[in-house]
Amino acid sequence: MKINSPLEAYKYLPQTNCGECGEPTCMAFASKLIDRSGKTENCPPLVKEKKYAKKLAELDRLLAPEIRQVTIGVGERAANIGGDDVLYRHKLTFFNKTKMFFDVSDSMEEAALIERVKKIADFKKFYVGRNLLIDGVAIRAASNDPAKFAAAVKKVAEVGLPMIFCSFNPAVLKAGLEVAKDKNPLLYAANKDNWKEVGELALEYKVPVVVSAFNDLDALKTLAKTFAEAGIKDIVLDPGTYPTGKGLKDTFTNFLKIRRAGIMGDTEIAYPIMALPLTAWMAGIADPVSASYWETVMASVFTIRYGDIMILHSMEPYAVLPEVHLAETIYTDPRTPVSVDGGMYKVGAPDKDSPVFFTTNFALTYYTVESDISANGIVCWLLAVDTDGIGVEAAAAGGQLNSAKVKDAFEKAGFDLKTDTNHNTLIIPGLSARLQGDLEDTLGAKVMVGPMDSGRIPGWIEKNWPPKK
Ligand code: SF4
Repeated sequence: MKINSPLEAYKYLPQTNCGECGEPTCMAFASKLIDRSGKTENCPPLVKEKKYAKKLAELDRLLAPEIRQVTIGVGERAANIGGDDVLYRHKLTFFNKTKMFFDVSDSMEEAALIERVKKIADFKKFYVGRNLLIDGVAIRAASNDPAKFAAAVKKVAEVGLPMIFCSFNPAVLKAGLEVAKDKNPLLYAANKDNWKEVGELALEYKVPVVVSAFNDLDALKTLAKTFAEAGIKDIVLDPGTYPTGKGLKDTFTNFLKIRRAGIMGDTEIAYPIMALPLTAWMAGIADPVSASYWETVMASVFTIRYGDIMILHSMEPYAVLPEVHLAETIYTDPRTPVSVDGGMYKVGAPDKDSPVFFTTNFALTYYTVESDISANGIVCWLLAVDTDGIGVEAAAAGGQLNSAKVKDAFEKAGFDLKTDTNHNTLIIPGLSARLQGDLEDTLGAKVMVGPMDSGRIPGWIEKNWPPKK
């Protein structure tokens, strides 16, 4: 992104504050452009009125990310990759979490293929208020037979996930494209031998394509440049992923070099990068658990350092869970704490005798408390106080959590301790014990200090609930 402040973006807007974009002012809209929650196309005057055409083109150019964003697949599950502007997350944020595609082969028995694809599509892990999912399916043309490959693509396409077609044989890729014309798959890959034919397929079917040159950045750049000059915009780079030893070190260095050059303005190589951790299975590791482990290590390395998309093999929970968790963590926006909506939540079916707890709306805190309570069968009311997503201890120290805020949260939730409970009692986190006196005065209720750690709530409840009269 060449501009990074709302004031700079504002200069290119009509500055009429007409509100057609849904924002009260052009400056508010400019802020949305900068944090990428808004797009220039959402400002009708800018798009429709001819006098703004030049400004619109310039603004689009200035807002474009340094690394091109490429979309794979269609519809709700379409996978966006790339789109980054910085080398280090703390300088802004990373956009578009690393996308994980798991492989299937066109040589698998149909039942086994369907079962594996279903497993990929059904994978779901709940984590701080959201479901972590697997992003797509990479279909390997192990048979090198166009008809077999097309049949496998047809089956996989039924689940609606984005797909990668893996073959160096243009005839095989074409057969796959013929049965999935409207699915926008990613072609893997064009190399020095087949680039002409694969490039023609990418142009003809208007699909994204990987250019591949193992451990040869000059060749990789030449391929990308040739494709760009031919009019192919959606390019992904594969510098090769070596699983061990010096090759792995070279791979790591290549990823750094490519991304650094792209961010520093070398547009010829400013594309998303593909990592192939499944090469761990070619490293001669005999034991499958160890191969899975090594694949996960490789996936972690390239999640942290610039892998925008990867192809993986092991579907074992001990491999997939760390992979999806790490990607989620690295791509969390450091500017906005992950939060839940403030308000009163029910754990189980609480009544007037049930205890009332509060915590803050920092998602990690809220879901930890909620799961510690619900997993132990405690039925209660749980108030999430809006502290702008800051945890209990920091919010109590920083002033985002105080007795007035808690009172306000009760009022907004329409919950009155005096009339909605028989005990008029609030249990507060041990980390906010300093608020006890203030809260008793503000709420006119009995305030009990709970444990410092929500894992101790069950033991605490056993000893202290119901409260003594
Ligand atoms: Fe400003 Fe455009 Fe929004 Fe109107 S629609 S307020 S001109 S940004």
